[in-house]
Formats: sequence, C-alpha cells, structure tokens
Amino acid sequence: MKHSYRVAINAEHCKACGLCIEFCPQDVLGFASTRNDAGFYPAEVQDQANCIGCLRCAMMCPDACIEIWRLVSADDRVAAAESVTR
Ligand code: SF4
Ligand code: SF4
Repeated sequence: MKHSYRVAINAEHCKACGLCIEFCPQDVLGFASTRNDAGFYPAEVQDQANCIGCLRCAMMCPDACIEIWRLVSADDRVAAAESVTR
C-alpha cells in the first residue's frame, strides 16, 4: 500500500536557515512569502503530494520545527494519522 504523508512545520519557530528545503529530494518545501513574528520568511509546504516521508527535512532542522505524519485513512478525508517523527 502506498502511504501518503503530511508535513507540519512550526512556522513561528523557524529561523529560515533553509536546510530542510535544500535537503528535500522531492522539492516539497520552499520559503513562505510572509514573515513570521520573528521577522523570518519561514519554510512552508509547497507540494505536499510529493512527500515520500523520508524524514530528511525533520532530521536536518536544527530547531525541531518539522513533524512528518503518515496518513492512515483510506481516502483524502484523513480519518487518522500517526506521527513518524516522534
Ligand atoms: S519527509 Fe522527505 S520528501 Fe517529505 S518534505 Fe521532508 S525531506 Fe521532503
Ligand atoms: S530547517 Fe527548520 S529552521 Fe531551517 S528553514 Fe527548515 S524549518 Fe526552518
């Protein structure tokens, strides 16, 4: 069964170092066009469907801003999900 994944980024804790964007092999991530409260343009999810759940972004983030969730529902309504980063 092919899994789907959801990437959750804590934008307010992101300091926009760009490591997650650089190391994502699927070009899922990019910088937001608006600043967070600290004045940074944080990382954001730009192509969720391309995520393969490799966890590289979460492992690279020096501020632990990223969680990856494996979606376990049978359809897009996402009845349940489980974190694979905790
Ligand atoms: S889990 Fe992998 S594919 Fe998904 S956003 Fe992070 S680095 Fe990219
Ligand atoms: S690695 Fe973490 S701190 Fe750096 S841009 Fe990505 S989410 Fe932000």
